[in-house]
Amino acid sequence: MSERPVRVRFAPSPTGPLHIGGVRTALYNYLFAKKHGGTFIIRIEDTDQTRFVPGAQDYIMDALAWCGIMPTEGPGIGGDCGPYVQSERKSMYRAYADQLVENDHAYIAFDTSEELTTMRDQAKQMGMPNWQYNNTTRSSMKNSLTLPSDEVQRRIEANEPYVIRMKMPRNKDIRFEDAIRSWVVVNTNNIDDKVLFKSDGMPTYHLANIVDDYKMNISHVIRGEEWLPSAPLHIMLYDAFGWEAPTFAHLPLLLKPDGNGKLSKRDGDRLGFPVFPTNWTTAEGELYSGYREKGYLPEAFINMLAFLGWNPGTTQEIFSLEELVEAFSLPRVSKSGAKFDPDKTKWFQQQYLRSTPNEEIAVQLSQLLTDNHDLASLATIAGLIKERATFVEDILTEGSFLLAQPSDYDEKTVRKKWKGNAAVLMSEWKTTLSTLTSFDAANVETEFKSFITERELGIGAVLPLFRLLVTGKGMGPSMFEVSEFLGKDECVDRIEKGLEAMDKLVSSN
Ligand code: GLU
Repeated sequence: MSERPVRVRFAPSPTGPLHIGGVRTALYNYLFAKKHGGTFIIRIEDTDQTRFVPGAQDYIMDALAWCGIMPTEGPGIGGDCGPYVQSERKSMYRAYADQLVENDHAYIAFDTSEELTTMRDQAKQMGMPNWQYNNTTRSSMKNSLTLPSDEVQRRIEANEPYVIRMKMPRNKDIRFEDAIRSWVVVNTNNIDDKVLFKSDGMPTYHLANIVDDYKMNISHVIRGEEWLPSAPLHIMLYDAFGWEAPTFAHLPLLLKPDGNGKLSKRDGDRLGFPVFPTNWTTAEGELYSGYREKGYLPEAFINMLAFLGWNPGTTQEIFSLEELVEAFSLPRVSKSGAKFDPDKTKWFQQQYLRSTPNEEIAVQLSQLLTDNHDLASLATIAGLIKERATFVEDILTEGSFLLAQPSDYDEKTVRKKWKGNAAVLMSEWKTTLSTLTSFDAANVETEFKSFITERELGIGAVLPLFRLLVTGKGMGPSMFEVSEFLGKDECVDRIEKGLEAMDKLVSSN
C-alpha cells in the first residue's frame, strides 16, 4: 500500500446524469479521504467530445452538493492541481504521448477508420470475430513500426491524420494488488494496443487519466469494476513513464434487484424507483426521476448507498456521514456485485424521517401547503403521523384528517364496525366528551376507559367507532392525542357530523 498522503479523485465523464453507481463511487472516495485525513478531488473527464452532454457537469456538482459529499478540489472549487476539467488541460497531454513514442513504449499509426473496418470484416470472414490492433497484428498495419522513418515523417508533414498507440510488449504478466480484489494478473497478449492520443488532438481516457492522476498526486484510485480491464494498461503506463502507480480499488457492480445484470438507467423508472440522485431531463424532454425530487432525505440516500457493496461487520445499519467516515474501510468492500433493494431504500428513508425533529418537518410541511398553518400545529401533526409515513409529503395524505374534517369514511371499517348500538354508543360518548373540562390526551383516555368499563365493552368495540367518526379512517395514531390536537369542540362537532353521515349511509343501504 502506498504511504503517500491520501489524495483520491472521482473522475466522471460528463456524458449524462450521474447514475447512483457513480454517486456510490464518489461516496466511497469521500469516505476514504475523510477517514485518512486526505483530500477528495473531482476531475471532469471530457476528452471524448462526441459523448459530451451539456449540463452534465453542473448536474454532477449539484448532485454531490445535495448528497453532502462535496470535494475539496475541483472545477468551480479550486485547488493547486487545476484546471480540473480535462478539456482545459488539453495542451499538456501531447508531450507525454511523444515521450512514450520516444521511449519506444508507443508508436504512431496511420490506419484510417475505413482500413480498420476492412481489417475487422476480413478477419470476421476468416472466422476471427474479435480482431484487435495488437502486438501480433500491428506488424501488418500502417504504423511507425512497419513504415520506413522517412515515410512516417513525410506523412506527418503532409498532415495525414494519425493516432498514437500503446506498444504492448509480448507475453508479459502484469500484476498489481487491488485493495479489494487482492492480486490481479493479466498477460499483455490479452490487451490490445490501445489508442493513447487521437487524431483530433485529444488524448484518450487512458492517457489523460494516468497523466492527471500523476500530476494531481493521486494516491488511491477507487472506481467501478468496469475499469478493472483497463487497470493493467494503466499500470503499464505508470511503468513506461517511470512513475509510482497509485493503489487501485475496483468497486463491485450495482446489480438489478433480481441480481440479473447491471442496474441500468432504464431500470429505475421501469421498476418504480429512481436510479439518479436528482431529476434529469434529456434534450428530448424525457424525464428520469431522482431521489431528491421523490422526497428522499440526502442522509437516507447516502446511508443506503454506503451499504451497496460495503458493510461495517456489525448489525448497525443507521450511520450518519461522520459515522460512515469512521467505519469505512476498503477491505470491507465486497468483491461481488451488490443487488439494489428498493424496499430497503424506502426503509432507510422511513428511519431517517422518524428521526427528523418534528419542528424541521413542520417547516417542510408548511412549504408544501398552500394555506397558512402555524408551525407548532404542523410539528404536532408531524409527530403524530411520521411513524406511518415514508416521505414528508405522506404526512399530509396520511394525516389529512388533522388539517380538515373527513369527507368520507373508510368503507371496510363501516362495514365491519358500524353495527348494533354503534350510533347510541357514539352519541353517549359525544355527550361525555362535551362535559369534559380538560381535554388533554391523558384525560380523554381516562374518560374513555371508564366509559367502556361502565358498559363492560372492550377497546376494540368502541375505539374504532370513535376513530371512524373523527378521522374517517380505520387506523391511525393515538385517538387520545388526536383528540387533544383537535380540541373538544372540533371532536364533538366531528362526531355529530359522523353520526349524521352514518345515518344516511345506513338508510341508503
Ligand atoms: N472517466 C471515467 C468514468 O467516467 C473514470 C474512470 C476512473 O476513475 O479512472 O468513469
